[in-house]
Amino acid sequence: MDKYIESVYESIVKKDPEQKTFHQAAYEVLESLEPAIKKFPKFQEHAILERIVEPERIIIFRVPWKDKDGKIQLNRGYRIQFNSAIGPYKGGFRFHPTVNLDILKFLGFEQIFKNSLTGLPMGGGKGGSDFDPKGKTDAEVESFCYSFMMEMFKHIGQFTDVPAGDIGVGAREIGYMYGAYRKITNLHGTCVLTGKGLDYGGSLIRPEATGYGCVYFVDEMLKTKKKELKAKTVTVSGSGNVAQYAVEKCIQMGAKVVTMSDSDGCIYDPDGIDEKKLSYVLELKNVKRGRIKEYAEKYNVEYVPKGKPWIYKCDIALPCATQNELDGNDAKALVDNGVIAVAEGANMPCTPEAIKVFQEFGVLYSPGKASNAGGVATSGLEMAQNSQRYFWTREEVDAKLHQIMINIHKTVYETAKLFDQPGNYQLGANIAGFLKVANAMIAQGYYA
Ligand code: NDP
Repeated sequence: MDKYIESVYESIVKKDPEQKTFHQAAYEVLESLEPAIKKFPKFQEHAILERIVEPERIIIFRVPWKDKDGKIQLNRGYRIQFNSAIGPYKGGFRFHPTVNLDILKFLGFEQIFKNSLTGLPMGGGKGGSDFDPKGKTDAEVESFCYSFMMEMFKHIGQFTDVPAGDIGVGAREIGYMYGAYRKITNLHGTCVLTGKGLDYGGSLIRPEATGYGCVYFVDEMLKTKKKELKAKTVTVSGSGNVAQYAVEKCIQMGAKVVTMSDSDGCIYDPDGIDEKKLSYVLELKNVKRGRIKEYAEKYNVEYVPKGKPWIYKCDIALPCATQNELDGNDAKALVDNGVIAVAEGANMPCTPEAIKVFQEFGVLYSPGKASNAGGVATSGLEMAQNSQRYFWTREEVDAKLHQIMINIHKTVYETAKLFDQPGNYQLGANIAGFLKVANAMIAQGYYA
């Protein structure tokens, strides 16, 4: 690694030695920026790397709420406003017991480059809480969301910071938080949150966007090898928002999806998950809030407790659950089973060792900041519609999403070629995302 880049990396490790996941995300980006830093000395002169790894602002606060027995419970709330050089901070809220500053800094950092790649004017941010909505009643979730927003409303706004959902934050949570924001501020119709319900300012296709976008991206990757999705076997991890709609788009494009999972285990359905079975999963996960194991019981297929989808034969793998869910050994198993493409639906699901294996064996590999950018891109489209006080049809939004994914693929692919690493989507995504933000930071002066 270049000495300047190494010194920046060492400084963040020294400053926050316990933030290992953030270090991983930062290292992954910094390492691949080397050719750009060498080509353009202005980035070092303007201390861009030192500044880009430091959030502009971090907000931490307490969130008291009442449980079903009337007892007061306490969680911690966060918002990381990482970089606003190219637009208002944008990035989801995650509600999960593992949420801490480390996890949110990694997610907020990734978001800077992802949002830049969409071509839309959005900066990077992320937030959430260590609150676990799993197993809570609707009333408990409502109590938590209102309390969370009582502090959060001071820090967000359509020109400042526009949060959305992430793990543990779906339509129900966004609804309560939007209600709280409206009640507190008496403001309506603004794009202060995205992922809203269709009845109160949401965009068609937003729920589908991350999963659909990921599959559109895979389609573009395959085209570079004169291949197509049709008749391919796909393994998907997760069974939440991203996984559900990745599976739906794979089915629509003629591929066969054989796995889904949750944090308890994995199902393997060799006949493929068809539309009917998928609608069962949507009902199971989004309404009944059940476990994926129930799919295996209903359709009499294999279920492996704590199992992962990566041991099964497939052409394409889509990790859509969480960070570091696919390690070096999983990657080797996928290669042995003939995988040709891996596209991240989740954020940083592949460990650095797994990425090395894919690159060594010539597997098409795309980082989440490129292949899962369809979600935030469609959030950007939701903001555009809200600003116009208008809405677009399902077909219009889907066509725009599809075109954005084609554009991201082209930008990433061409950037990798320009820096003499054709086919290296990781390098292409990091450099292309970085250049726009870094140039904007220089243009706006060093205080910005
Ligand atoms: P959801 O909460 O809807 O679903 C998450 C899924 O991943 C669930 O099936 C969950 O299982 C599983 N999961 C969570 N943690 C683990 C774990 N430690 N081990 C195994 N499985 C786990 O979240 P989303 O689908 O929205 O998000 C999934 C990923 O996609 C995240 O990395 C997120 O950051 C990323 N992403 C999401 C976007 C969006 O628009 N929603 C946009 C871009 C990226 P269980 O129910 O058991 O917890």
